[in-house]
Amino acid sequence: MKFSFRKSVASLWSRPDPVLARAAVAGELLVAKVRLGLATLLLVIPVINSLFFPVEPKEAIVGVSLTAATFLVALTVYFLISREYNPPWFSFVSTSFDVTLVSSALVLFLFMNEPHTAVNSKVVFEGYFLVIGATSLRYDKRVCITTGLLAFGQYFAIVYFAAHHWDLNNVEYSPYPYGLFSWSAQISRLIIMMTASALSLALVSRSQRLLQLATRDPLTGLFSRGYVDDRFAVELSRARRYDKVLTVAVIDADRFKLLNDTHGHQAGDLALQKIGALLHDTFRQSDTAGRYGGEEFVVILPETDMTAAQQKMEFLRESVANTPISVATSAEKVQVTISAGLASFPQDGESAAELFALADERMFQAKGQGRNRVVAGGEVVLS
Ligand code: GH3
Ligand code: MG
Ligand code: MG
Repeated sequence: MKFSFRKSVASLWSRPDPVLARAAVAGELLVAKVRLGLATLLLVIPVINSLFFPVEPKEAIVGVSLTAATFLVALTVYFLISREYNPPWFSFVSTSFDVTLVSSALVLFLFMNEPHTAVNSKVVFEGYFLVIGATSLRYDKRVCITTGLLAFGQYFAIVYFAAHHWDLNNVEYSPYPYGLFSWSAQISRLIIMMTASALSLALVSRSQRLLQLATRDPLTGLFSRGYVDDRFAVELSRARRYDKVLTVAVIDADRFKLLNDTHGHQAGDLALQKIGALLHDTFRQSDTAGRYGGEEFVVILPETDMTAAQQKMEFLRESVANTPISVATSAEKVQVTISAGLASFPQDGESAAELFALADERMFQAKGQGRNRVVAGGEVVLS
C-alpha cells in the first residue's frame, strides 16, 4: 500500500470510536481518583511538617496553599466525572492541568532560588511520566499527542530558563547536592519523555485496531452484532441528551434460502458481501451499519429523521436490486433483493428494544407486502 502523509496525519488526529470514548470515561474516572488520592497526600504532608518541624512561614504558606488549590481542583474534577460530566474537551483539559501541575512544582523551585532542584529533580520530574502514561487510559491519540508536546514544551522552557538565568555549574554551588547541570542529561530526559508519549500513542493505536478486529464481521467487513448494540446504546443516550432524532433500520435479504438452495452457499456468501459493500457505500461514517445475523443487517442513523432515513434506505434497496451477482453455477447473474423496516426515536419509542422491535415488525410487514420494499412509519412505500 502506498504511504500517504496526509492519511497518516489524519489517522493520528482522528476522533476515537464512540464505544472506546465510553471506555475512556472509565479511564478518566480512574485518573480522577488517583489524582484526588495524591492531592490528599500532598495536602497532608506539609500540614504535618509544619506541625512538627520548624519551617519558614512563607514557604509553609506557599506549600499549603498550592496543595490546597490542587486538592480543590482534583475534588471538583472527580465530582464532575462521577456525575457523568464529560464533554469532548474534558480529557484535554484534565491532562493539561496535570502536566502544568508538575511544571508548576518545578517552577516553584526556581522561585525559591533552587534551580538545581528544578532541573535535576528526582521525584517531581517523574510526575510527567505518570501523566503521560495515564493518557493511554483516554483512548484518544489526540490527547496522547497534545499531552506529550505540552510536557516537552513546558519542561524545555523550565530548563532553558534555568540554564540562562543561573550559572548552574559555578563553584559557589559546590558540593552540588542536586548534581551538576548538563544539557546532554536534559536532552536524554526530553527524549525519554517523547518515547513515553510514543508508547502511550502506540497503546491507544493498538486498542483501536483490536477493537476494529473484534467488532467486524469477517465476511462482509461490517460491524458485528455486539458492536451495533453497544453503539446503539451510545447513540441513543446522545440523542436523548441533546434532544436529537435517530432512526434504526432492520434489513433482511429476500428469499435467501432459495438462493442458497439454487446456487449454493458460496453464491449466498457472495450476495451477502455485495449487500455489505453497498451498505458500506450508502451510509455516512457516523452511521453504523452492521451484520446482525445470517442475512440480517441493522443500520443506526444518528441525527436522521424518518423521511431522510427512508430516502437513503430506498436508495440502498434500489442499488441492491440493480446489482446482479455473477455466480459460478449459472451463466445468468443472480438477482437479490432486500426488505427493510424503520423506526425513529423519539416518535416510535424510547428504548433500543422498543425501536428494534418496531423496525423488525415493519420489516416483516415489507415481507408480507411482497418483499423488495421499505416500510417506514406505518406508511408503505411502493416499489
Ligand atoms: P425471507 O424472504 O422471508 O427472508 O426468506 P429467507 O429465505 O431469506 O429467510 P429464511 O430465514 O428462511 O432463510 C435465511 C437463509 O439465510 C437461511 C440460511 O441458510 C441463509 N444464511 C444465513 N447466514 C448465511 C451465510 O453466512 N451465508 C450463506 N450463504 N447463507 C446464509
Ligand atoms: Mg432472516
Ligand atoms: Mg431473509
